Amino acid sequence: MTGSRFLRLIFFVVFSAGSVAQAPPQPASVPAPSLTPAVVVAGSPELIRISAPEITSIDGEWLHRKLEFFASSDRHAWYALAGVDVETVPGPSTLQLHLRLAGGATREIIQAIEIHPAHYRTATLSVAPRFVSPGPEQMKQIEADRAIKKQVFAASAPEPLWHGSFRTPVHAPPTDSFGTRRVFNGKLDSVHTGMDFRAHTGTVVRAGNSGVVVLARPLYYEGNCVIIDHGLGLYSIYMHFSRFDVHEGQHVVTGQRLGLSGATGRVTGPHLHWAVSWQGAHLDPAKLLKLNLNPVH
Ligand SMILES: [Zn+2]
Repeated sequence: MTGSRFLRLIFFVVFSAGSVAQAPPQPASVPAPSLTPAVVVAGSPELIRISAPEITSIDGEWLHRKLEFFASSDRHAWYALAGVDVETVPGPSTLQLHLRLAGGATREIIQAIEIHPAHYRTATLSVAPRFVSPGPEQMKQIEADRAIKKQVFAASAPEPLWHGSFRTPVHAPPTDSFGTRRVFNGKLDSVHTGMDFRAHTGTVVRAGNSGVVVLARPLYYEGNCVIIDHGLGLYSIYMHFSRFDVHEGQHVVTGQRLGLSGATGRVTGPHLHWAVSWQGAHLDPAKLLKLNLNPVH
């Protein structure tokens, strides 16, 4: 053994022994995260909260999706607005969190969360045949739309843009249509991933919360469509407009006019289709409307 290697070895042993002997005192244990709503069902948005002032950052994962936490302005609580996709199979799931605390210590939290079944309906409906069996030209547009949407959903703002609770986007009767398994023209089978409002053509549609308009253009199935990015992977989507009153890149606040409802795209008649997605998971807008986000600051 050469002299310098021997010295390095001694140094390593002493350093290791020293770090064990001088380990920092263990900080107080971190309380368990709370989920609202407490009963978790397929399609439900979930506000996850951890109250611990000594946290400096959190990484998390749940149902194969990355959780993005942000601190309250007084830094006494951390929040993530997440959710369970409508097609998630009910059963046990695991919430995993990695916390970094002031002073450099870390904590792992592993919490079991049961996903309960939601009871959604089945419906049959009729639309123009070109929406069930699109031709080659139409397939081209559908593919182009898919690429645009993929781009939009991959570039969410790195901080929450929403403020307070979500508000209903239109003064029109809501229907209990989210999660319905639908058969179009006796063939196409799909799950309805939004909520329909019986809005006459020309009804004013408003932003459900503040954010940035990341899409405002006609798409094949969606018709004239507006998508708002609310940050950290959360989006609201408005379809079938007869008129746009916003443009892509525009910042909007809760209740701001986005356009007028209509019957463009794949519809059986005039209505507003309103959808909410988080990291690609389709969430029930009606459940998001019931979630009190006003205490989150
Ligand atoms: Zn719809």
